[in-house]
Amino acid sequence: MTTPSRITPGLAGVPESVDVVVVGLGVTGAGVALDAASRGLSVLAVDAFDLAWGTSRFSSKLVHGGLRYLASGQVGIAHESAVERGILMETTAPHLTRPLPTIVPLAPGVTRPMGALTRAALFGGDLLRRAARTSADTLPKPRRLTAAETRRLAPTLRTDGLRGAVLGWDGQLEDDARLVATIARTAADRGAAVHTHTRVVAATGTEVTLRDQLTGATTTVRTRTVINAAGVWAGDVVDDIRLRPSRGTHLVLRGDTLPGLDVAVFAPIPGQRNRFVLVLPQPDGQIYVGLTDEPAAGPVPDVAEPTEVEIGFLLDVVAASFSRPLRRSDVVGAFAGLRPLLDTGDDSTADLSRKHAVLTSPTGVVTIVGGKLTTYRRMAEDAVDAAVAHAGLRAGPCLTATLPLTGAASRPRLAELVERAETPGHARLVRRFGVDADLVIDSARAATGLPDDELLAPIDETIPVTLAELVFGVTHEGAADVADLLDRRTRVGLVPADRLRAVPAAERALELAVAANR
Ligand SMILES: Cc1cc2nc3c(=O)[nH]c(=O)nc-3n(C[C@H](O)[C@H](O)[C@H](O)COP(=O)(O)OP(=O)(O)OC[C@H]3O[C@@H](n4cnc5c(N)ncnc54)[C@H](O)[C@@H]3O)c2cc1C
Repeated sequence: MTTPSRITPGLAGVPESVDVVVVGLGVTGAGVALDAASRGLSVLAVDAFDLAWGTSRFSSKLVHGGLRYLASGQVGIAHESAVERGILMETTAPHLTRPLPTIVPLAPGVTRPMGALTRAALFGGDLLRRAARTSADTLPKPRRLTAAETRRLAPTLRTDGLRGAVLGWDGQLEDDARLVATIARTAADRGAAVHTHTRVVAATGTEVTLRDQLTGATTTVRTRTVINAAGVWAGDVVDDIRLRPSRGTHLVLRGDTLPGLDVAVFAPIPGQRNRFVLVLPQPDGQIYVGLTDEPAAGPVPDVAEPTEVEIGFLLDVVAASFSRPLRRSDVVGAFAGLRPLLDTGDDSTADLSRKHAVLTSPTGVVTIVGGKLTTYRRMAEDAVDAAVAHAGLRAGPCLTATLPLTGAASRPRLAELVERAETPGHARLVRRFGVDADLVIDSARAATGLPDDELLAPIDETIPVTLAELVFGVTHEGAADVADLLDRRTRVGLVPADRLRAVPAAERALELAVAANR
């Protein structure tokens, strides 16, 4: 086995000159770094803060099939989305994705014609799946559920007047930030220099000035091309791009708030036709509820904050669909992300976010914005194609549609590894790192000298995170501080009370990893 490459915080070891500099390590920038490196180009990819600092960690964590575009007649985008979903779930990241059953309850507020429309839409979605050649073993066909079947899958749904539900399937990520970290590690394995805590303070098509955010040191790197994947901050890197972000908010609930929920539920927004709030059970037992779409005018903040009005709205919609009373105190966390919408001067922003755009500035910087997490691979391919053509680079063809991300394996193999795992901690690492789980444990053991039972134990009674993954975050994934570990390498930070309890474990992991490097 070759030694896996490491992601480095700050400027240490940054090359003096490369073929491609990538600005930003959200899902788009990480995807661009992997695409370019796998075509044989030399790559430097940097993030001002951290992997998945921006929008990419605040998504709904769904791998969408493009149903809503089909509904609005945008067949091309819908097909692209379904194809990319299939690639992620079947080839590149089976370890980080899972089929998610979703139900639309046929409650009294959903009229019979609306129910028929919903069914038709889900069957349309299945046509998309088939056109994308995704197997029905990966995403089963939709079907109508009886009221009794619906209650079994979602026992806390309101049952008065419930006629059943329509069951469909979509993809769900283990975690969006984990996907980004995995793409970035795969890029590093392919030779890309990947640096966190490194800000691009100035860029032309042939040179970037970088600042180490940890030390304040600066340097200049020569390059043949620059790809700007800075999301909602893309307009700070080049002058001629204007964005008009919109904010999407999610709530975090504990699993026992709506016990027994095995499916995602589309909760209808009372008084509105065909608008829903999604109730999404997560692989770690929590439940997310989202999402809103609010214009976010003014300067782009480093981290967007949900408002109490958005929180109240989401809670009220869910409370109307479920029999359990929901209170503000059930909301143990809330997070908001900004959609990187291009400002085209047109008033309608509704669907722009999902269309991606590749734009070349007069300085030669190629910007990639918009799109969505699901289509990151295709966005990266288009951006690298444009940059290669613009700079006249010699590069191989795009390989990423058939290039598994590090740790990937078939679903049966992954299921076998989870089955054979001796502790819940080990099983968790298989879920988050696939067949790289052993690499995580071996590296953490080598770095700390600690026994496996200590490395694989949950860091707290109610927090399943392990010391092994925290140490690996520092030694291999460019984490430099407690926030990197708790807010991005793991997602403990989504629940502030848990985060407080996890700080000592994160500090310990940092100390152990730093001591190992001395
Ligand atoms: C609420 C919400 C829910 C969503 N849900 C889904 C979903 O379920 N499924 C789906 O497919 N899509 C979803 N999306 C869309 C998807 O999340 C985004 O399209 C995607 O994450 C954007 O990624 P990005 O890499 O382009 O931007 P970002 O993730 O924001 O990355 C940009 C990066 O650039 C860095 N940066 C900025 N300036 C500089 C600089 N000067 N130097 C160096 N680095 C810099 C930032 O630190 C940041 O890390 C959702 C979006 C929102 C807002």
